[in-house]
Amino acid sequence: PENAPPAPQALLAHEPYPDPSLPVATRVSQILAKMTLDEKLGQMTQPERASVSNADVTNFYIGSVLSGGGSAPSPNNATSWANMYDAYQNAATNTRLGIPLLYGIDAVHGHNNVFGATIFPHNIGLGATRNANLAQQIGRAVAEEVSGTGIDWDFAPCLCVARNDRWGRTYESFGEKPELPSQMAAFITGLQGSSLSASGSVLATAKHYVGDGGTTNGTDQGNTQLNEADLRAIHLPPFREAIARGVGSVMISYSSWNGAKMHGQQYLITNVLKNELGFSGFVVSDYNGIDQIDGQAGFTAAEVRQAINAGIDMVMVPTAWREFISTLRSEVQAGRVPMSRIDDANRRILTKKFELGIFEKPLTDRSYTGTVGNAAHRSIARQAVRESMVLLKNAGNVLPLAKANNKIFVAGKSADNIGNQSGGWTISWQGSSGNITTGTTILQGIRNGAGAGTTVTYNQSGSGIDSSYKVAIAVVGETPYAEGAGDRPNDMGLDSADLNTINTLRNSGVPVVVVLVSGRPLDIASQVPNWNGLVAAWLPGTEGAGVADVLYGDYAPTGKLPMTWMQSASQQPINDGDGKPSLFPFGFGLTYGAPPSRNPYDTIQAESFDGQSGIQTETTTDTGGGQNIGYINPGDSVYYANVDFGATSAVSVTTRLASGAGSGTLQYRLDSATGPVIASTAVSGTGGWQSWTSATANLTASATGRHTVYITFTGPGGDFVNINW
Ligand code: BGC
Repeated sequence: PENAPPAPQALLAHEPYPDPSLPVATRVSQILAKMTLDEKLGQMTQPERASVSNADVTNFYIGSVLSGGGSAPSPNNATSWANMYDAYQNAATNTRLGIPLLYGIDAVHGHNNVFGATIFPHNIGLGATRNANLAQQIGRAVAEEVSGTGIDWDFAPCLCVARNDRWGRTYESFGEKPELPSQMAAFITGLQGSSLSASGSVLATAKHYVGDGGTTNGTDQGNTQLNEADLRAIHLPPFREAIARGVGSVMISYSSWNGAKMHGQQYLITNVLKNELGFSGFVVSDYNGIDQIDGQAGFTAAEVRQAINAGIDMVMVPTAWREFISTLRSEVQAGRVPMSRIDDANRRILTKKFELGIFEKPLTDRSYTGTVGNAAHRSIARQAVRESMVLLKNAGNVLPLAKANNKIFVAGKSADNIGNQSGGWTISWQGSSGNITTGTTILQGIRNGAGAGTTVTYNQSGSGIDSSYKVAIAVVGETPYAEGAGDRPNDMGLDSADLNTINTLRNSGVPVVVVLVSGRPLDIASQVPNWNGLVAAWLPGTEGAGVADVLYGDYAPTGKLPMTWMQSASQQPINDGDGKPSLFPFGFGLTYGAPPSRNPYDTIQAESFDGQSGIQTETTTDTGGGQNIGYINPGDSVYYANVDFGATSAVSVTTRLASGAGSGTLQYRLDSATGPVIASTAVSGTGGWQSWTSATANLTASATGRHTVYITFTGPGGDFVNINW
């Protein structure tokens, strides 16, 4: 029945409700005033699709449904997804008030539950690109594919700051320092579009709030033991950036903070996230997350009460959703959960539904259905793969590979394996090896890129190689995993099959390039001296041709490590600035030949001033294309170090402020926060990320050479500065 074709005429029974010409806040108040308790409880409930029928959605006023862990309709294609969605939406709108539902899914690296969708590199690879514009472009492509299946809500991006590579979700992190997830939060702007109501926009989720990447020993769903200042300095900044970008929802982390589960933390959810940071969207629990508050299986009334009173607005309660509704009803009726809390949760959820425009257009916009896995999106993904490759070793310039008249031997378990190169969260929750969806394997990419007179020979274990080959490529590493199953509390090296493959290649005397397909740095220090070349490919997704583009030098590598690379697993956790000797430092990455021409800034430093945690210094290596550098309040300054002013060329800087409404002046000063003003621009906005005008200043310093530029701000304060150059 879930796949029954939609009955759009049923929707006509409801006029757009209430009047779409009224402001959203008014519409929310109007509809809230008409809602019964049961209708409100339904809005706060999110069952899993396999546990909720269309009739249930109608009868229980269900506000949201999710596909958890790859849960897909059959057949798994874009049209059947859209049909399933429309059937649910018809069921939701065939209620007294006709409130549409939100359908949520983990499209965390493309619309990854859907067969044939474009699979992008996992976040760790995007972190290596340092390219916020690219992240935004990918977000947009994902939003289109998701929209093509009707779905309006993506549980992405994961803004975790992964501090211990043993953690199985390390690859869901853009990097080990808060600057990287903060920068790549541009993904949110891609997902949510110019406005939520614009066609092809989906609601984004900043997850998992907060401290998911900071657990002791990197244990998934473990305990993050940090004082509050460190929690704020390391794990909070990406959420602040997400809020500045108007993220619609935030998902709570399974982890604990100093022994207490995040799902019950009123201080961090209500006081900090909602009140202090001003998050106005809604908070969703993780999958069965409320069950964990007391450490026992299942949820109790006390857990429901604690979670809702802590500030969770919608509960992902995949199977026991009926019990959840009746439990919460009893808690409200007994006065243990105040009605004001229920109303606040509903107001937040309904606001996003109105903003998305789904009251007016509840059904799938089929004009996007054909975008699922289309050529345009695959070419964005291929570019992302190119930019995510990090060249770590290139002895004797073994790379790039000659395209013509070459004899290339390719081996390794991940050379010809879409499943391995895509990693976890692909078609199924944990992902799997093999031919699981459509795309180009790395081997196919190498074959397709070969020029005249070049032969490419493949054998997975390396057998058949001899000294007549000019180079051997070993594509080895980790096989797919997700969440807890991916934790590596012990060994973090290559398995013996991989080591044997590499040895077979080496024994032929042919130079060996290792292409590492993995969700994190691996413990390989003892082997690297034996390899001629090493490329960290992370989990590139379906467009393996991007890997070949780098190997052949069609794209000279630009990727930089988003994580510090350990010398041995016993060093975990190892992070930039902790003084432990690394194999390759954070930010490391080689290229071919001369370095590419650099833009004027090779180091940007931002003093970040969120009043709460005091002054922080954030250092980031610029690779061009834009950089979010921090928060600025009146009287504060951000600064760029190492700005090279050429004799003739002016330096152009575009700054943009987010969040606050108001206007102010940015002043650019030379060499100190009180130095001479070399440019000044007016900025203003009406509130929200998109509303601030960009201001471009041409910094023609009278002095040439290397300088530091300080930006000071007078204005309403509490804002975020985004720099493009
Ligand atoms: C994960 C979340 C995900 C959710 C829904 C959980 O197990 O921790 O990241 O969004 O499942 O699938």
